[in-house]
Amino acid sequence: MSEPLPPPEARSEGPGDDAAEARVALGWAHTARFLTTASKLSELPATELPEIAFVGRSNAGKSTAINVLTQQKRLAFASKTPGRTQHLNVFELGPKDAANALFVDLPGYGYAAVERNAKLRWQEVMADYLGIRRSLSAIVMLVDCRLGFTELDLALLRFIGPRLETGAVKLLVLLTKADKLGKQAAEAAARKSGELLGSLSSEQADVSVSLFSALDRRGVADAAVWLYRLVPKA
Ligand code: GDP
Repeated sequence: MSEPLPPPEARSEGPGDDAAEARVALGWAHTARFLTTASKLSELPATELPEIAFVGRSNAGKSTAINVLTQQKRLAFASKTPGRTQHLNVFELGPKDAANALFVDLPGYGYAAVERNAKLRWQEVMADYLGIRRSLSAIVMLVDCRLGFTELDLALLRFIGPRLETGAVKLLVLLTKADKLGKQAAEAAARKSGELLGSLSSEQADVSVSLFSALDRRGVADAAVWLYRLVPKA
């Protein structure tokens, strides 16, 4: 007589299962394809799909992280083409006929050369999107591990704080370019960021931080698993 399958949490114990979960998650991430670009909230697709927003200071490694997570060389560089840098670039994931999540690549911030009007417009779009968008289920924040949180990162964290506190929106901080630090310095950077996030979050908040490197692939599979767990399974 066959036994019923144990619940998923009981099944993902051994290292083999972790590897299997990572494979599935990376396979899912690889399905990402460009969907649309929007200059304001009203141009975004009307959808109930969970959305994962990618935010970060310019040059933090956001495009590189999206490309390595999706295992596509140029996917996020679409967001860097002229005319699109101030836009929300949206990618769809999952089976072609049954998409199950969206990645939303938000404009990088803190780039000094952006003129004042563009900055104000950008702030408005970011505030609308991060503050109001109902289908937003998680934010991935890219932070250069050598710099840690900058003022603008902290301002953004304070802004999304109310949505994080209730657990309605989850946060994953990826400390990028970890290959540029030695083992101890990288661990110290992770500890420091973890402490800062701990001081900002509440009991209900779902906040994680992880070292990440596109170069040596540290943290890539874990990040894919974290993201894939947000997707409702049939
Ligand atoms: P974005 O402006 O946040 O999209 O940043 P990019 O993805 O364009 O990366 C900025 C720079 O950092 C580029 O020169 C990348 O090659 C470099 N970079 C990004 N990720 C890594 C990494 O994991 N390791 C190293 N060594 N360099 C990286």
